[in-house]
Amino acid sequence: MQTISKADRFVKAMTEMPSTDRKWLFGNETDNPLQFAFDAKRTVHPSVKGSVMPQNTISSTWHDLMGQHGRASKRAVYIHIPFCQTHCLYCGFFQNFLKKDIEDAYIARLIAELEMNADSPFIKSHPIHAIYLGGGTPSALSAKNIERLLYAIQLHLPLANDYELTFESRFHEFDDYKIDACLNGGVNRFSFGVQSFDTKVRRCIGRIDDREKILNRLKYLNGLDNAAIIIDLMYGMPHQTMDVWEKDVRTLIDSEIDGGDLYQLNVYEDSRLKEAVEKGALPPPSKTSVQALMFECGVDIMQKARYKRLSICHWAKNTRERNLYNQLSKSGFVTIPFGAGAGGKIEGYTFFVDRDIHSYMRRIDAEEKPLMFMMSPPEDYELYSSIIGQMDLGRLNITMLSARYGVELEDMLSPLIEAWLAKGLIKMSDGFLELTIAGQFWYVNLTQAILDWLVMMKSNGSHALNVNPVRKSLSNGVKAIAAQG
Ligand code: SF4
Repeated sequence: MQTISKADRFVKAMTEMPSTDRKWLFGNETDNPLQFAFDAKRTVHPSVKGSVMPQNTISSTWHDLMGQHGRASKRAVYIHIPFCQTHCLYCGFFQNFLKKDIEDAYIARLIAELEMNADSPFIKSHPIHAIYLGGGTPSALSAKNIERLLYAIQLHLPLANDYELTFESRFHEFDDYKIDACLNGGVNRFSFGVQSFDTKVRRCIGRIDDREKILNRLKYLNGLDNAAIIIDLMYGMPHQTMDVWEKDVRTLIDSEIDGGDLYQLNVYEDSRLKEAVEKGALPPPSKTSVQALMFECGVDIMQKARYKRLSICHWAKNTRERNLYNQLSKSGFVTIPFGAGAGGKIEGYTFFVDRDIHSYMRRIDAEEKPLMFMMSPPEDYELYSSIIGQMDLGRLNITMLSARYGVELEDMLSPLIEAWLAKGLIKMSDGFLELTIAGQFWYVNLTQAILDWLVMMKSNGSHALNVNPVRKSLSNGVKAIAAQG
């Protein structure tokens, strides 16, 4: 007698699902999956959300966690600098323009926040392996404030000997004094949001410096030979033709830096970029189907240059670049948040620090960890975190995950696997699900589909798909941990 697997039974139970939802899970019928497997990118970061915790439990939960040693595993810290010199048109992370008096007051509070839990059992129990100073624009801080903050990090956090300390930067007004302050304070990785080397493309999205200046500063930093130099490049911007994009990626390679990130432009609903395009001040950005070709082109160039692929979007030229923070935070490892607008995760709980800078400072003065929002761990969050972390690397070790979490993952995912194999989005080999180039471009959708599928199976189909293609601004949220942009 033929046996019917759990997944088959589940599929039968899901026959009521609207066809639009089915398309978000299984993909479109197309012989061109790279460009048309889905109608849009479904989310910025795949996730299974826990429940929002009542306000009156946030503080006690934080203190409980800080009072324990926590599990022995690698840890990361995210420190947020919520200031920028300018507001880039595409950005969903902008919070405040930089003002000198606020900057000094903020850094004093940030140092107080680092000190606040420094002696807690949780912070003292295990070394910190990766620290990310992000924003906003950390490089907008004065040399003096960079020095103060880095000194406090070294003083209050138990850094592992081989720690990675990343300083997110722009070239604009990032002078030699500031660079020295970073290097003297222990920064060993700079991540620059270059986006494009093309001066016209840069200026149209609100970046200030021209190609020559960027190349000169990269040369200067390379010459110091004292930290990993990483840049972000973005594809799909107005005026950025395929030729411009190809030249951008080739320039990354010619500049001989240690690594780079190639990522897709997201146009948010209430962004200044969308407004500029609607008013006719800028040509429209590339459609998703064209972005797919740009992605393929970028991957091809990096592969031919024999760069090592550390994740779907990130490449290293050498062993200096490890991309450790991103890997830890995306895989659900402890990421402790500091600073107004920071997000983090501890033992599956998700925390967000108060993003209103004045409220943040008042609460620090009252000796309170200024958290504004918290979510409890969803059931099975470790499995989900492992899936998210592995899919970000372009594959899923089904055999290992099944054994570790006691689930029959291949059987559970079989309807998705079957559909994606037929559509050329994945390959299966040696117990691994591996993404093809088309699957890599759509990996966010595929990851979210796997997560939704597992949650739906667990709830016998009662879980509704949260279909919300990337349009909304992030400006009312908090900078997602690991979202580098
Ligand atoms: S892209 Fe960076 S520098 Fe530009 S507004 Fe956003 S956070 Fe600030």
